[in-house]
Amino acid sequence: MEILVCVKRVPDTAENEIEVNRDGSDIERDDLVYSVNEWDNYAVEEAIQIVDKVGGAVTVVSLGDEDSEEIVRREMAMGANNGILVSDDAFEGSDGKGVAAILKTVAEKGSYDLILTGAQADDGAGQIGGMLAAMLDLPYASVVNSIEVVSDSQLKVGREIEGGNQELNEIGLPCVLSIQTGINEPRYVGIRGIRKVASVDIPIWGAADLGLDASNVGQSAAGVKRVDYFVPEFGEGAEILEGSDEEIAEKLIDLLKAKGGIK
Ligand SMILES: Cc1cc2nc3c(=O)[nH]c(=O)nc-3n(C[C@H](O)[C@H](O)[C@H](O)COP(=O)(O)OP(=O)(O)OC[C@H]3O[C@@H](n4cnc5c(N)ncnc54)[C@H](O)[C@@H]3O)c2cc1C
Repeated sequence: MEILVCVKRVPDTAENEIEVNRDGSDIERDDLVYSVNEWDNYAVEEAIQIVDKVGGAVTVVSLGDEDSEEIVRREMAMGANNGILVSDDAFEGSDGKGVAAILKTVAEKGSYDLILTGAQADDGAGQIGGMLAAMLDLPYASVVNSIEVVSDSQLKVGREIEGGNQELNEIGLPCVLSIQTGINEPRYVGIRGIRKVASVDIPIWGAADLGLDASNVGQSAAGVKRVDYFVPEFGEGAEILEGSDEEIAEKLIDLLKAKGGIK
């Protein structure tokens, strides 16, 4: 099975304090530690496990600047067979539809049976998987937490639904799935794996390589324009407890007692 996995380089929330920048146009990006989007790492692990079982190859693609190459290489160290970096100044400021349109051309350049995205990335939009499927006119299942290969033309996929219940669907190949965290246990990427792919050539494709009209993507084509980033005001009634950890804990216990939460 030929599998394409879309991977995004994102700020690592475990390693960074995320703050909005001064003019509210973005987050403060200086000195941030970046890594592969968590959901995408699960998707790559799932793709590797499928290929281990039924054969084929895993290709990872990332759209971003030249720094995104490091996550393509990392996912190859994990076991993906091929990597592609998609990068062009013309892509900057693309909205979700623009990102999906660019990834669509990548998918069309190959011959993939299965295309995986994460269920969401750092901007939390959760939009790329669905848009990509619609643009490719392929069936789509979102927030997938189990995959079973039934045949060359069919998968059985599980989805977590309300109240911790589970849904099972049959879906024809080729298709697009967005992957939920917890679907597997992503393997550890060791130094040996990283060394093995350190000098592998990763192609960089721009608008011309993908046959994309640059005016259809990027900032000028974005139908959704980001206009502000801000920290919302604390609502009425929100009380911020101050002091040392012990003092805050004591004040919290008093408050809970006063409101009848504990005796
Ligand atoms: C400089 C800058 C300017 C921007 N300007 C705008 C703007 O004006 N309007 C606007 O709407 N948005 C803007 N964005 C946000 C950008 O469009 C979003 O990153 C994009 O819409 C995807 O949303 P998301 O990250 O929430 O992905 P989701 O839809 O949550 O991601 C789901 C999955 O899609 C795949 N995916 C997403 N992005 C990539 C990628 N780059 N490469 C490979 N796979 C990917 C991954 O598999 C991911 O798990 C801007 C971003 C940047 C960095």
